[in-house]
This record gives sequence, C-alpha cells and structure tokens, in this order.
Amino acid sequence: MSTQLPPQISRLRWILIVAMLLSCGSSVTLVMLGCQQVPMTNRKQVLLSSEASENAMGLTAYQEVLKSEPLTKNEKAIEIVRRIGQRIAAVANRPDFEWEFNVIESDTQNAFCLPGGKVAVYTGILPVCENEAGLAVVMSHEVAHAIARHGGERMTYQTAQNLGKSAVSYVMQKQEEEKQKIVLAAYGAASEYGVILPYSRKHEMEADQIGIMLMAKAGYDPSEAPVFWQRFATAKTGAAPMEWMSTHPSDATRSAALRELLPQAMEYYEKASEKVGLGESVQ
Ligand SMILES: [Zn+2]
Repeated sequence: MSTQLPPQISRLRWILIVAMLLSCGSSVTLVMLGCQQVPMTNRKQVLLSSEASENAMGLTAYQEVLKSEPLTKNEKAIEIVRRIGQRIAAVANRPDFEWEFNVIESDTQNAFCLPGGKVAVYTGILPVCENEAGLAVVMSHEVAHAIARHGGERMTYQTAQNLGKSAVSYVMQKQEEEKQKIVLAAYGAASEYGVILPYSRKHEMEADQIGIMLMAKAGYDPSEAPVFWQRFATAKTGAAPMEWMSTHPSDATRSAALRELLPQAMEYYEKASEKVGLGESVQ
C-alpha cells in the first residue's frame, strides 16, 4: 500500500479512467476520453492516446529500427514484401496511413506493423511462409494489430495499471527514446528494443480474424491461413520469440478459429479485383 497519495489531479484522472473502462461497451459513451470501435469486428475499446500521437511514435520507432538493423539485399524478397504490402494497404481502408514495407536480414521469425503503417518483415520468417499467400497471412495479421490499435490499447491498460505511480500520462511524458521502446514493445517488435509485451489472446484472435479478411480482400487465397499456422507450429525455431507466439492461442485453436472464418473470407476473396491464389514462392 502506498503511503503517498497521488496529487488531486491524478485522482481525478484515475476516476475518469475507471469510469471509462467500465462504461466502454455499455450504452454510456464518454467521448472525452477515447472510446473507439475496432474496424471490421466492431469491438469497443478504450484508448488514452490519440491516434496521431501513436502514429508519430510509430514513425520515430520505425526509423530507429531501420537505422540499427541490417536491411536485406535480397531484391526478390523486397519486391514480394512490397507487392503484398501494397495489396493489403489498398484494402485496409486507412488512407491516412503512410505505408512503408521493409525487409530486415535476420534469422528471427518475426514481422511487425507499427502505428501509421510502418511494416518490417524479417527474412527468418520467409521459409515458413513458403509462398506469397503465407506471407500475406503474416503481414495482414500484423497490419490488423495496427489498424485495430492493439498497441494503443495495451499502452492504455499499462497506464491504468500504473496509476499508483501517477502515470496517467506515462506514455506522453516519457523521453523520446523511452517512447520508442514502449511502442516497439506494444507492437511486438524487435526484442532488443525492450521487453515484448505479449498480446492478449483476445488481440491475437482479433488480429487473425481481421487479417484473414484483409488477405482475402487483397486477393490471396484465405484457405492458406489455417494451413500456415499448422506449418508454423512445426517450424518454430525457439530463437527470439515472434510476437504472435507469445500468448499461445494454441496452433490448433488458431487453425480451428480460422477455418470457421473461411466461408466469410472466401466471399471477400471471390469479390477481389485480382486473385493471386498462393502467388509466387518466397523461399
Ligand atoms: Zn499478433
């Protein structure tokens, strides 16, 4: 128990946040402090940070990663990642995002998308993807985390948990370097930039759900999604953990949930302006 009461202003904020956490999802809407709806799933969420500030943090953190990580010289990998990325971006309904897709040379089986549409794929994941559709599973899942603002939501919860330390504006007041670490951690990016906060199972399942619809709309055969997860289950290397291994919706659960979503995803796929199927090999 703390013997030091937080300042009056912090207590007021605390009350507001608790009210907000309780009210979001009910008919009460506290507009003043970010109640939002997740695109495509319509789940209600609470966010303390503005999207603009999240995007700004995403951009700075991304630039930092690109400065310190070796970009691949594999032209084919770059071309394929950008091609898939552009297709996903075209159906993500986020004209405000300034999309960017880069490939980092690393054995790490990872990929991430930071707020604002800054995507990085590590070459270590490519063999598991096997083909363009497999890579589209990975990339659309990551994009889904960003458009659903899962990182912002996690930063909000972390902030709420830190209220005793008067950390309501934790995210906002941290030094620039610290902000980058927070946003990288919140989006499951490179572990060397800070502790990876595991996404909740709820976020993982939601990113799978949005992701499979995105890849289908982008023209990739969505039936590859459950297949990819089965393949991934046998290919885990035990190297640096991939963000989506971290909270373990078991691969079987994941595949089953994706199979249930397939009929809906196939409808999007049928309507896609250009069908790529599984696309090219990415190995
Ligand atoms: Zn994920």
